[in-house]
Amino acid sequence: MDFKASNNLQDLQYFGEYGGVNPSVSDSSTYTFLSAKTMFDTFEGNTEGCYLYSRHSSPSNLYLGEALAALEGTETANVYASGMGAITSVVFQLCDAGEHIISSRTIYGGTYAFMKNFLKKFDIDTSFIDITDIEIVEAAITPKTKMIYCEGVSNPLLEVADIEALAKLAKKHKIPLVVDNTFSPLTIAPAKLGANVVIHSLTKFINGTSDCVAGAVCGTTDFCLSLKDVNNGAGMLLGSTLDSLRAASILKNMRTLHIRMKKHSENAQYLAEKFEKDGFRVVYPGLASHSGNSVMKKQMNPEYGFGGLLTLDVGTLDHANALMELMQEKKLGYLAVSLGFYKTLFSAPGTSTSSEIPEEEQKEMGLSDGLIRFSIGLDNDIQRTYDTMKSCMAYLGIQGKKAISV
Ligand SMILES: *Cc1c(COP(=O)(O)O)cnc(C)c1O
Repeated sequence: MDFKASNNLQDLQYFGEYGGVNPSVSDSSTYTFLSAKTMFDTFEGNTEGCYLYSRHSSPSNLYLGEALAALEGTETANVYASGMGAITSVVFQLCDAGEHIISSRTIYGGTYAFMKNFLKKFDIDTSFIDITDIEIVEAAITPKTKMIYCEGVSNPLLEVADIEALAKLAKKHKIPLVVDNTFSPLTIAPAKLGANVVIHSLTKFINGTSDCVAGAVCGTTDFCLSLKDVNNGAGMLLGSTLDSLRAASILKNMRTLHIRMKKHSENAQYLAEKFEKDGFRVVYPGLASHSGNSVMKKQMNPEYGFGGLLTLDVGTLDHANALMELMQEKKLGYLAVSLGFYKTLFSAPGTSTSSEIPEEEQKEMGLSDGLIRFSIGLDNDIQRTYDTMKSCMAYLGIQGKKAISV
């Protein structure tokens, strides 16, 4: 038998301080040193095996980081107080004033606003481009480019990035490829496809209970340590550290991630196929009609399906709003932003999570008024969900294009 150290999520097993099956929660902001010399060394950067102060690291945060590193197949991972805390730390760690970023144009609204507006203060310029066209990405590279940024499956249009091709390009130009994998944990493993840094908003699928915000950066030991550096680490100095109690709670929720992802995907695939057949414009990476379907098939772990997000176009914003209100009333889920909850969540991205993106640009990206983004829940009887959704639509006079001829 081979007892080699394993980096497999399934093999993670902890012993608590008192032999408990869960590790003890670290409940301290600061840590004692037995010798003053060790404290000095720790501040000099030799922090190996030592806890100093909980903004730097804590046992609970390290446990969660270890699980996330196993999830993504990276050397290690740091955890943050939010997804944005993780994203902003990575950007500031990689880019200095006056430098340049290449980013997909279809990304989370907050990330877009940060790059487009906030980074102006630092004279960091971002080119927002179509990440699915490698030639366009390469043409955007300048000597000042310090990062290529995209989402594995993008928010809210579910565009699929060809991570292998992007990684090859990034490597050729010696620019780090950073992938936000919030929409596709387990389904896509960006680091295994060549990405240098993988980011998560743990707020979504990984925690899965919609009770907190949190984030993670998965990468090499060198990079993750640089983020924690007491003199120059963006994570350490910007201070978006995750609380230990929350880290312990997320670690426990993460144990069912694989089961949940399969169910989210199964339910989303079912509804996507049904509504497409009914003649609606449905965007779901698991449909042959989706532009990213073949890239997704090439790079995904098929066991986990195509993810829990889909968009459905019901024609007008009025229809979208009326349908969402009625679905909530019929207990099909919540009119709420975010994703990865056990109940279905729905929102109209144009007026909510992507409202940071100007209307003109929304149109260009294909973000139409009647678009509803669904994060499909863990419904046990998804056929019943479909039937109820259909009756809500019928009540409001919302029809797919082929509905009459069928
Ligand atoms: C929600 C989200 C974020 C931001 O994460 P927070 O935890 O809300 O800070 C970043 N990227 C994607 C793709 C998201 O969905």
